[in-house]
Amino acid sequence: MAGSLTRSLKRKLVIMRGSSDTVSGRAKRTLVKSLYTQPSTLAIGAFNGIASTAIAAWVSEINILYIGCALLTIIAVARVTAALGMSPDEDGTSTRKLELIYEIGAFSYAFVIGLIAALTIILDGDASVQVLMTANALCYGVGICARNAGSPSIAIGQLGLVSLPIMVAAIWKGSLAFIALFVNILLLIPAMISITLNVFRVLRDSISAAETSAQLAEKMQTLARTDVVTGLANRAGLNHAMVETMMATQPGRRIALFWIDLDRFKEVNDLMGHPVGDRVLAEVARRLRNVSPEAATVARFGGDEFVIFCPDCDRKMSERLASEVHAEIMRAIRVDGERLEVRASVGVAMLPEDGADVDSLMQSADLALYHAKVNGRSQTHFYDESMSRDLVRKREIEHELRAAIKRDELSIFFQPIVDLESGRIKTFEALVRWFHPEKGELRPDEFIPVAEESGVIVTLGNWITAQAARACAQWPDEVSVAVNLSPLQIRAPGAALGILSALRASGLDPSRLELEVTESLFLDDSPATTHFIEELSAKGVKFALDDFGTGYSSLGYINTFPFDKIKVDRSFVSGPNVGKQSEAIIRAVVEMGSTLEMEIVAEGLESIEQVKAVRKAGCTLGQGYYFSRAVPDYMAAMLLAVERKGDPLAQRKIG
Ligand code: C2E
Ligand code: CA
Ligand code: CA
Repeated sequence: MAGSLTRSLKRKLVIMRGSSDTVSGRAKRTLVKSLYTQPSTLAIGAFNGIASTAIAAWVSEINILYIGCALLTIIAVARVTAALGMSPDEDGTSTRKLELIYEIGAFSYAFVIGLIAALTIILDGDASVQVLMTANALCYGVGICARNAGSPSIAIGQLGLVSLPIMVAAIWKGSLAFIALFVNILLLIPAMISITLNVFRVLRDSISAAETSAQLAEKMQTLARTDVVTGLANRAGLNHAMVETMMATQPGRRIALFWIDLDRFKEVNDLMGHPVGDRVLAEVARRLRNVSPEAATVARFGGDEFVIFCPDCDRKMSERLASEVHAEIMRAIRVDGERLEVRASVGVAMLPEDGADVDSLMQSADLALYHAKVNGRSQTHFYDESMSRDLVRKREIEHELRAAIKRDELSIFFQPIVDLESGRIKTFEALVRWFHPEKGELRPDEFIPVAEESGVIVTLGNWITAQAARACAQWPDEVSVAVNLSPLQIRAPGAALGILSALRASGLDPSRLELEVTESLFLDDSPATTHFIEELSAKGVKFALDDFGTGYSSLGYINTFPFDKIKVDRSFVSGPNVGKQSEAIIRAVVEMGSTLEMEIVAEGLESIEQVKAVRKAGCTLGQGYYFSRAVPDYMAAMLLAVERKGDPLAQRKIG
């Protein structure tokens, strides 16, 4: 009977081991860890056992029980020492080792306590002592089944080891009451096994469910922090990594933040399609990851922008990393047999000098990137304080510019463009001036770029054209007005409409309006530009190419667009490099102008020698301080009146 019981017990234990194997390692560990929780229950159990055995030995005067008492004490001390020596929370201790150590202690304690109870029966101890020790052992066995249900093999093993000696002793005695005790225990064991297994299943299932949902949550979080196209961290991932790093950062630690923007990436997308664009981004991401240190977080910050957040990176390392980034990105990328070349602009800011926290570090890197871009792209700029000052000044100007337009602080000055043959004024160029109540007179070079960046240029440009057209309508019919247009103003929707409404409001004939545009306008041949020029040309508006010779070298657009004038930049006339070479250039431009029937204006004439030189070179028109600075509208009207009285620009007629 005992044999069949052991067999069925064994079978059940095998099943239990099998079922616990199906639990994942983490869940299994949680279950085993439960053995080590609430050590107080173990201590109470041990104390009960030891104290009861001591009392039993004393009362019954069975000396061997003192040995049992000593054994229990040794086991209890060994278990406590072993448990203190290793922490179940430490990953270094394997789950199996934790379980084994517990198992040895638990099994030996259970067997000894069972054996002591059996001895009180076999050696005919006092009835009260038999009750005390048998109750002690069985209570321990039953209690332990509930306590250790997380490891059913241990729980049931303990129950078995506690019960077995008592059952043997009961059979040995063979009296009716002891046979009844034997049967009681025999029935108790399967009942307890079933209860333990039930508790185990409930425990296991709830731990597994909790683990599954924890894994799912972890997966979702990883997904939410990853960019799908490149596999890098996205904005959320970057923020998370930055916050984590900053929280662990000791004072004095250096961190570099690289903000990388691919140059003209929009063209790749527009010309080759988004799928190709995505593959280029993925390749760039791979290369950035390769050159970045292990501890760095590389993120895609949306569009074609990337960020490398690099802890423990000093200035020297950052400079090296920046040049590696450029080198890696510049290597041609092959997509579908096409060779693509990509470039990038990089802005770098360092903690702690360029920002005390993540936000200010990002701001500084962004500013540095902006400087890298406006300085001609494909380069790295490290943040420095002057960048912030520039920005603050720009913001101030932008804000005040909007107010200035409303407050009428802006005015238009006019500078004459003179016929070099007759000395008569043919055109006035309208040049905007800003008389700031505190800062004094501001030059257009200072605020026009701000107006362009902020979009104020559209409103401002339309206002200037309207003012210039109104002034010109008061002048004699043969005098025209020239207005400078910014490329951004021309590309804005409804740009031609703004010009036409200025003409209509002033009643000025379109042929008396001349629009000065620069070569930069043709850098990206946008249909909006072509449309603007064609529409206004058809109405009779004239066009002049300003600052000729300073920028874009292709002359193709001179043939394509109907310019009436070319204004040779003043650096060819009065700059420090004026000499034989610039004279030759002026001659070439003049020759081209006469072939294409365009007039050539020399800008920046400050001396009679310069005037004579450009006239000799073939320029027909001139402009510069030699004739007049830009003057307010009433002065312009006066200059014209004087001229009409037969005194062409005072005595400035060139003989
Ligand atoms: P720009 O179109 O080349 O205008 C000529 C600039 O040269 C003017 O400077 C003028 O005062 C200056 N200048 C004229 N003669 C001489 C000379 O003999 N010597 C020297 N050294 N300089 C001379 P300003 O008025 O400061 O304008 C600077 C630039 O600002 C202009 O260059 C133009 O690009 C832009 N700008 C001026 N007014 C407007 C405007 O109303 N709209 C737009 N979009 N841009 C404007
Ligand atoms: Ca101009
Ligand atoms: Ca010019």
